[in-house]
Amino acid sequence: MTETPKHVLVSGGAGYIGSHACKLLAARGYVPVCFDNLSTGWLQAVKYGPIVEGSLMDRAALDAAFAVYQPVAVMHFAAFSQVGEAMVDPGKYWRNNVFGSLNLIEASVAAGVLDFVFSSTCATYGEQDGVLLDEASAQKPINAYGSSKRAVEEILRDFGVSYGLRSVIFRYFNVAGADPDGEIGECHRPETHLIPVMLEAIDGQRPELVIYGTDYDTPDGTCIRDYVHVMDLVDAHVLGLQWLLDGKESRVFNLGTGAGFTVKEVIGHARAATGKKVPHSFGPRRSGDATALVSGSHRALHELGWDPKRSSLKLMIQDAWTWHKIGGFHG
Ligand code: UDP
Repeated sequence: MTETPKHVLVSGGAGYIGSHACKLLAARGYVPVCFDNLSTGWLQAVKYGPIVEGSLMDRAALDAAFAVYQPVAVMHFAAFSQVGEAMVDPGKYWRNNVFGSLNLIEASVAAGVLDFVFSSTCATYGEQDGVLLDEASAQKPINAYGSSKRAVEEILRDFGVSYGLRSVIFRYFNVAGADPDGEIGECHRPETHLIPVMLEAIDGQRPELVIYGTDYDTPDGTCIRDYVHVMDLVDAHVLGLQWLLDGKESRVFNLGTGAGFTVKEVIGHARAATGKKVPHSFGPRRSGDATALVSGSHRALHELGWDPKRSSLKLMIQDAWTWHKIGGFHG
């Protein structure tokens, strides 16, 4: 007798993190059902299960996807995630990230799917004077990206109380790297994130990397971030899914390594990993950027058994560089 496939509905499964999650879910015996409107994702990144092309704004499309696939759980990645853009157009972030998530959460509850893994962010913590951030740190976002994610966390808590929805909320620090097999990787057009922008500058695809701000209160004046490998990040998601399927309570986990690096230090590591200089210049601060975002929590390690073994800057940059040389997705 064949086993019923265990579908997991993965919103944003054609995007950077979502596609890596789909790959790992498939490797662990689940069938990832990608729900994506392909506004920023790539059809070529959908390799590990079916796709439902649809928008989170379209409740009927969501209801149909739940009815057809009867997933055991949801992993929700689909969101806009650029701080700079959120400062220029906060409404876009509130509309898509909050209203879209509310639709998905309501559709999930209506379909009786009560296990929900949510991709949140350390940007919900905001500016905190250099303290290491743990899950109990106050959430004081300073941009609409962070505010929109915090709002969804609150929706999940409210729906937990009223409908028994159980959620694992992951607050990511800075995600980097790519699938070491080279099948998928980060591909934003235009690219805004530090490591891929740096690699484009090394490769001559852009004239230089502009360092946003050199007057922060950090040892070299540039912002500090905690970088985590995308493969480690999605590994935590599968552990979080298992946590819920085992019947455990709703829980929030930071996903960072606890090691902070300045922008200048990341440039130094890129030079070492690629053997090439990073052409760069110094520009003003980017509005909405916090000085330092570093995780001070071991909760994911202790409670989920998470082991972020690929999350050295060296491996993250090497894997991103391999993917960069493959050339990303086109279309
Ligand atoms: N950064 C930079 N130049 C760039 C892109 C990013 O100096 O072209 C800096 C940015 O100010 C931040 C860090 O690199 O301090 C990481 O930014 P990214 O956009 O990768 O991630 P975020 O922290 O916004 O999630």
